[in-house]
Amino acid sequence: MNVHEYQGKQLLKKYGAIVPNGHVAFNADEAVETAEKLGGKLWVVKAQIHAGGRGKAGGVKLARSLDEVRAYANELLGKILVTHQTGPEGKEIKRLLIEEGCPIEKEYYIGVVIDRSSNAVVMMGSEEGGTEIEEVAEKTPEKIFKEVIDPAVGMSPFQARRLAYNINIPKDKVNQAAKFMLGLYEAFVSNDCSLAEINPLVTTSDGRVMALDAKLNFDSNALYRHKDILELRDLNEEDPKEIEASKFDLSYIALDGNIGCMVNGAGLAMATMDIIKHYSGDPANFLDVGGGATAEKVTEAFKIILSDEKVKGIFINIFGGIMKCDVIAEGVVEAVKQVNLSVPLVVRLEGTNVDLGKKILNDSGLPIVAADSMADGAQKIVQLVAQA
Ligand code: GDP
Ligand code: MN
Repeated sequence: MNVHEYQGKQLLKKYGAIVPNGHVAFNADEAVETAEKLGGKLWVVKAQIHAGGRGKAGGVKLARSLDEVRAYANELLGKILVTHQTGPEGKEIKRLLIEEGCPIEKEYYIGVVIDRSSNAVVMMGSEEGGTEIEEVAEKTPEKIFKEVIDPAVGMSPFQARRLAYNINIPKDKVNQAAKFMLGLYEAFVSNDCSLAEINPLVTTSDGRVMALDAKLNFDSNALYRHKDILELRDLNEEDPKEIEASKFDLSYIALDGNIGCMVNGAGLAMATMDIIKHYSGDPANFLDVGGGATAEKVTEAFKIILSDEKVKGIFINIFGGIMKCDVIAEGVVEAVKQVNLSVPLVVRLEGTNVDLGKKILNDSGLPIVAADSMADGAQKIVQLVAQA
C-alpha cells in the first residue's frame, strides 16, 4: 500500500527524522491558511498523488507570497497531472502539501529496500539526489553506496556514518545525516515497509539535513498489525476494480491487455498469463479467485473483469483440487447467466469431478468453449479474440 508524501513525512517525524514544517490542504483557503501559520517568505505547494516525477511535470511550485500560494493551489487542485510514473491518463490532484520553502544546498538520495539477494534490508545512498536513481544506477553505478543491515542488530550508528561519508555529506552535517538514516531505518522496520525512498534528502544553507520528499510503501500482508497506517489508505489513488476485488477477497491486478483471466492459485495465474503471452495474446489482468471459489466469488470476479472495457475475451483456467470441478462449473454457469456475457469465454477445468464439470458446462446451452489443456485453452481464447 502507498501513502501520500505528507503522510510519509508525518510518520518519519515520529522517528526523529527531520522534515520541513508543513500541512495538507484540500482547497485554496486551507492552503493560504496553512502558509500563513507556517510564516516565512517562501512556501512550496506540492501536488499529492501516489506517483513521483511531480517536479518535472509541474506539480511542485515555489510561492513567494500568499497570493501566489492561492494562485498555485487553484491551478493545481483538480488538475490531471501526468508524470512518467502515472501513465498517460495521469492522476487528478485532490490534495496539496503546503510546506515552508527551504534554502537547498545540495540534494542527496536515500533509499531503503528489502534486498532478496542479501536476505536483508539494505539502505542505499547517493550524492546524485533529485534525479532518478535508475538513471544513476545505469550511468554512474559507482556513485551508489549500500549498507546491508543485520536484522538481529539493526542499523548501527557506524553504518549510518559510513554511508553519510560515502555520499559526501559535509563533515559538519554527518551526525545529523546519520541520525536521519537511523530514524528512517527504525520507521521502515517498525511499520513493515517494503520501500522507503527519500529523494531528495537535502542539506540546507541554514545548517539542516532533512527529507524534502518521502515515498513509503507498506507490505499489505502486514497491515493487519498497523491499523494506523491502514487508515492512511487513499482509495482515490487506487484502481476501482482492484478495490472492488479486495472486498471479495480476490487478488486482482489490472494489466494492459485484452484477455481477462480467472484462475485459482497465484502460481497457476502466473502460468496462465505466461501461456497467453506465449501464444501472442495479452492478459488484461491477474486474478486469483483463491481456494474457495464459490458461485458468488466467480460472479463478482466476472463483473470485475467485464467492467474493464479493454476485455475482448475471458479465459477461465481452474484446477479443482479442494474445490470440485462440478461446483466450479455450476458457479461459472450461474455467473454467465447473471452478467449477460458478450465476449467469448473459454473454460479449462482440471481435477476432481472434471467430467461432471464439463458435462454441466456443455449442457448449459451457453456459448462456453471448453478446452482440454492450458495450451489448448490459451490458443483458443487468443484465436477468438483475434477474430472478434
Ligand atoms: P517528485 O518530483 O515527485 O519526486 O517531487 P519532489 O518532492 O522530489 O520535488 C521535486 C523537486 O522540487 C526537488 O528535487 C527540489 O529540487 C524541489 N523542491 C521541493 N521542495 C523544495 C523547497 O522547499 N525548496 C526548493 N528550493 N526546492 C524544493
Ligand atoms: Mn522526489
